[in-house]
Amino acid sequence: MAKQHYIIPIFVPHRGCPHQCVFCNQKEIAGVATQPSRDMVSRTIGEYLSTIPLQAGVTAEVAFYGGSFTAMSREEQEVLLKPAAAILKAGLIRNIRVSTRPDCISLEGLDFLRSYGVGIIELGVQSMNPEVLVSSGRGHTPDDVRESSRLIKEQGFALGLQMMVGLPGDSREISLATGMELVSLEPDFVRIYPVLVVEGTPLAEAYRQGSYLPLALEEAVETCAELLLVFNRAGIPVIRLGLQPSQEIDYDGKVLAGPFHPAFRELVESRVAYRQVADLLEKAREQGLEITGELVLAVPARDVSIIRGQRNANLSALQKEYDLSGTKIIIDETMKRGEIGLYSLDGKSLNLISQRSSLGIPNKKL
Ligand code: SF4
Repeated sequence: MAKQHYIIPIFVPHRGCPHQCVFCNQKEIAGVATQPSRDMVSRTIGEYLSTIPLQAGVTAEVAFYGGSFTAMSREEQEVLLKPAAAILKAGLIRNIRVSTRPDCISLEGLDFLRSYGVGIIELGVQSMNPEVLVSSGRGHTPDDVRESSRLIKEQGFALGLQMMVGLPGDSREISLATGMELVSLEPDFVRIYPVLVVEGTPLAEAYRQGSYLPLALEEAVETCAELLLVFNRAGIPVIRLGLQPSQEIDYDGKVLAGPFHPAFRELVESRVAYRQVADLLEKAREQGLEITGELVLAVPARDVSIIRGQRNANLSALQKEYDLSGTKIIIDETMKRGEIGLYSLDGKSLNLISQRSSLGIPNKKL
């Protein structure tokens, strides 16, 4: 039976955050949202657990979202952690995770988190470029990220790193350099968020004044596809590609501009799949085959939609780009996810297979 893992999210509006990241509307949210009490945390976990069919192969985890967990006082952290720790001890959840800033990690702080059973720590890195960090109002440096990541791993926690694309002063090259540096920090997983312009943020003001222009959807898809390749090749799971952290809970109707798309991840994965098929066609050409006639691809069922692309965009683009007479997909369940087979070209059967994680990072745009 396939394993199922449930996340029980608890949003922590951080009233006391002394920073003002340009993309963040936490101050607005904190003004209206209630800081969870110990009882609220217990109740929320209980309510979620009552809907989760806890049986063999099913696990659950409590995740405190909201950006700056360890920037709160120990007393405030304790209020939230105690009820989660009790439920962890009872064996009803498997782990507790918190999200925080790279400059709010210390050895004592990690000991404190460990004493309550926290096993996963996510850091909001956003960029490893010092200028981008300054122009985004982050208030921490790339060295804070390096040092805190090292400490978190050394102390035996699982490490998650979050980055953003499209921050003020950012570029495709800077985002790729950030991705590569994150790989070198060996996180257990990453999240990638294209910047959205949200009401009530400094970025919204800058956008209205014309001094900040968000990425177009197409640019965001391209850059994120390249980043996905960077992490795929390193074997680091990208567990999220889409809405930015402060919108996890409250973004409805508040996005003024930016590369918002409800199926953003699928767009990115489809872009990578297009590149994979183009790569296979190049291999066929290297073998002396003429690229002409009908193209037949073999893929596992779960990958069909990303290979097709939204409204068959990938297949139409391949047909046009390579002047093919048609494209067809056949399902082959012996193939693994991420594999595409070039089954036949112009009626000639072939056996060329490509694995997504083996794709190189392109020098030019995909
Ligand atoms: S993203 Fe985090 S650190 Fe930045 S302003 Fe929002 S709560 Fe504060």
